[in-house]
Amino acid sequence: MCGIFGYVGSRTASPVLLDGLRTLEYRGYDSAGIYVPGYSPIKAVGPIDNLAKKIISPLSGTSGIAHTRWATHGAPTEVNAHPHLDMSGTLALVHNGIIENYRELKEGLVMRGIEFESETDSEVLAKLIGTLYKGDLFTATRNALSLVRGTYGIIVIAENDPNTIVTARMGSPIVLGLAVDGNFVSSDPSALLAHTKDVIYLADGECAIVSKDSYEVLSTKGKRLSKKPETVEWDIESVQKQGYEHFMQKEIFEVPEVIENTIRGRLMPGKGRAKLGGVEMVVDKLTALNRLVIVGCGSAYYAGLVGRFMLEEYAGLPVEVELGSEYRYKRNLTDKKTAVLAITQSGETADTLASIRSAKEQSLLTLGVVNVVGSTIARETDFGVYNHAGPEVAVASTKAFISQLTVFVLLTLLIGREKGLSQEEGTRIAEDLANLPKTLRSYLKNTDDIKRVAKKYANYRDMMFIGRKSHTPIAYEGSLKMKEVTYIHAEAYAGGELKHGSIAMLDENFPVVALVPKDDVYEKMISNVEEVKARKAPTLVVATEDDKSISGVADDVIFVPKVHPILQPIVSTVPLQLLSYYVGVEKGLNVDRPRNLAKSVTVE
Ligand code: GLU
Repeated sequence: MCGIFGYVGSRTASPVLLDGLRTLEYRGYDSAGIYVPGYSPIKAVGPIDNLAKKIISPLSGTSGIAHTRWATHGAPTEVNAHPHLDMSGTLALVHNGIIENYRELKEGLVMRGIEFESETDSEVLAKLIGTLYKGDLFTATRNALSLVRGTYGIIVIAENDPNTIVTARMGSPIVLGLAVDGNFVSSDPSALLAHTKDVIYLADGECAIVSKDSYEVLSTKGKRLSKKPETVEWDIESVQKQGYEHFMQKEIFEVPEVIENTIRGRLMPGKGRAKLGGVEMVVDKLTALNRLVIVGCGSAYYAGLVGRFMLEEYAGLPVEVELGSEYRYKRNLTDKKTAVLAITQSGETADTLASIRSAKEQSLLTLGVVNVVGSTIARETDFGVYNHAGPEVAVASTKAFISQLTVFVLLTLLIGREKGLSQEEGTRIAEDLANLPKTLRSYLKNTDDIKRVAKKYANYRDMMFIGRKSHTPIAYEGSLKMKEVTYIHAEAYAGGELKHGSIAMLDENFPVVALVPKDDVYEKMISNVEEVKARKAPTLVVATEDDKSISGVADDVIFVPKVHPILQPIVSTVPLQLLSYYVGVEKGLNVDRPRNLAKSVTVE
């Protein structure tokens, strides 16, 4: 959370910084600010547009730093917005993360007569660096960081040396961008695509001194490190709306292409197998596991629950799924044949990362299913699979979630075929998966039905989602999407759980969205729909297209193509994502930037 961006080069910095912030806005939009040496910081509450309105003409400097905030310490006000200055007002800092010992550091500084303007933890670091600054920004920063506990990605700049920026990371991502007209520092490679594809990812404990045409990566102890630039595989188009009204809409409609990218070169339909370069060398170990523990947060956790279903049902592999924020703090009973698999779009999710680190402390095999190449979790896990979903800009995950499910199908084929999944069944799965992009492409040609029901359901205050087996987590995900994008209170349950309590809430004002594919629990789900109808709850059913009788049962039906049962949860997700999207639009909400949220949860 929070996006930080810095530039030092030959171009006028302020428009470059504003553009960088616009791409990073998904990371936080409580407030934004920029600092160009020689000027006072310019800050505004709310989205980047509010900041842009304050910068009537570009400032004249060719370097600067910028921040878009998701507040952790202090309200989202202008004073609390970054950049923060030191006491001389000539040294500025932007920060992503949390300084955990900021209170004690602040007390010490206050005792020395240093005055604070904001309530943030970040300002303490700016003031601390200021007290240690004797003309060498790197040394002052390094010394200040040695006193700090917590997480940070920071960029610092001093007015008397505007051609140098210093950056450092511990727990929050930092990537350098190297271009002909200057060098960049960013929280995320997507903001660099407009300028360069040559990047250097910093690891925890690394710092860099960056100027117009040089950079130096160092350890916090000041030791020079040699790091080679890598090439980002994303294109600039992937972070633009490309004619769509919203990123969320674009990303849902990109789903067929995303599945193509996720399976490209990895599927062998004729053989009913999958090939995954990043885990191939440990297939034997995976096959012999007593238990695979999948760890994730939010939508990724739900993807893990679907993954468990796939791996247990078709590959016979025992799986547990844990929330990152739980796993990391509890006692985990493991043995040598336990592996931990982290699932995360950004590869920076703080709780998931901490879980992986704790698994490593237990000497367990770790794996990652990660979308962002080069991200921390991608680097810290022993083996892994990249999603290749391209950058996801909308805060609510859509295409990345689908690609996570797709990766689990591939893993199921890979491990399953070693553990008794027949070639026949493997071939059926692989063939249907190969056809899935085509199936979904034609499905997405006409979404009028979903739009129509969205209008009808947009004004309810509450909503419930139900499903069974692999569709239970899809109900959870459908309800999460509805909550985050539309602010409708939404609950989700396994169909069988309703009568154990939650059905008590239902009445004519509490619609139920039921996932009712024609599978082996179809009849059970139909009974659930009847039960909720008997409580007068309006019913919206997602059914497979072969279901001729369903229209008589539910108030509204959204049909989806029928595919192999392992793939059905992927298909059923798409209309739920669109439903939230259309309801959000119907309510006039900013669907790409829901309130109180930010993407890439790098704070704990
Ligand atoms: N702790 C800082 C603040 O609240 C940065 C927050 C973040 O990185 O999410 O301003």
